[in-house]
Amino acid sequence: MKPDKRRKTIVGNWKMHTTAAEARHLAGGVVDGVGNSDPVTVILCPPFPYLALVGEILKGSRVALGAQNMYPEKEGAFTGEVSPTMLLDLGCRYVILGHSERRHKLGESDAFINQKVRFALACGLDIILCVGETLEQRKANQTEALLDRQLNLGLADVPGAALPHISIAYEPVWAIGTGKTATPEQAEETHQFIRHQLVKMFSMAAAERVRIQYGGSVKPENAAALLAQHDVDGALIGGASLNAGQFLAIVRAGISEPQTKRKSA
Ligand code: PEP
Repeated sequence: MKPDKRRKTIVGNWKMHTTAAEARHLAGGVVDGVGNSDPVTVILCPPFPYLALVGEILKGSRVALGAQNMYPEKEGAFTGEVSPTMLLDLGCRYVILGHSERRHKLGESDAFINQKVRFALACGLDIILCVGETLEQRKANQTEALLDRQLNLGLADVPGAALPHISIAYEPVWAIGTGKTATPEQAEETHQFIRHQLVKMFSMAAAERVRIQYGGSVKPENAAALLAQHDVDGALIGGASLNAGQFLAIVRAGISEPQTKRKSA
C-alpha cells in the first residue's frame, strides 16, 4: 500500500531558458491553470535571475518555488554562486541538486553534490537529488552499480530524519532532452531498485515515504503511463515545462492516474 504522504510531485525545470517577460507569462499560466485543490505538489524552478519575479507570481498559489542549484556556503567570496540562505530569502522551498547537466557538463562530483545535499538540508531547503545512468552505462549493465554509487555518495552522512525533505529524481541521461523516454516498465523497475537501496541505507518505513520522480522527455502523451507506475511518484520536466499547457497536462495526468499495484518486491 502506498503511504498517504507520497503525494505525486511535478517539477518544472526551466534550465537556462526564458526572458523575464516569458518567465512572467509562463508562471502566470501555470498558476491560472493549476486550480486550488489538486492533490499533486507542483514546483517551478526558474533560472536564478527570475526567482524573485516568479516567486511574486506564485505567492498565494499552490505552486511552490524551487531553484536549479546552489553553493554549499551561507555567504562569502564565491563569485557567481548563490547560497541556500539567498534562495530561502526569495521564497524557495526546494532545490534541485546533482542534475546530470551539472554532473556531466560542469564536472560536479558525487562528493561535491553530497556537500550541497547536507548543507541545503541543514539550512532548511527540501532537496531533489538527481541520479541516472548514461546510455553507455545502461548498455554495459552498469545502471544499478552507478545508481548505488550516486545514492550512497550523494546521501552520505545524511540522517534518516532528513528523508521527509528529500526526493530522488531518476533521470536516465539518455532520455533527458532527447525525446527518448524510459518505458513505464523500465522506470518502475529502476524506481523499485532505488527504493530498495534506500531501504538498505535507511529503513523500510523511511524509504517507503521517499518520493521518486522520473525525468527524461516526459510529455503529455507519455506522462499518464509513467505516473501510473507504483513507484513513480512524480516527474521532473525540462522541455515540456516551458509550455504552460503541456506542463499542466502532465500535472493533470498525475492527478487522474490511479497507481498500479507493485508487481513484485
Ligand atoms: C530535466 O531537465 O531534468 C529533463 C528531464 O529534461 P527533459 O524533460 O527536457 O528531458
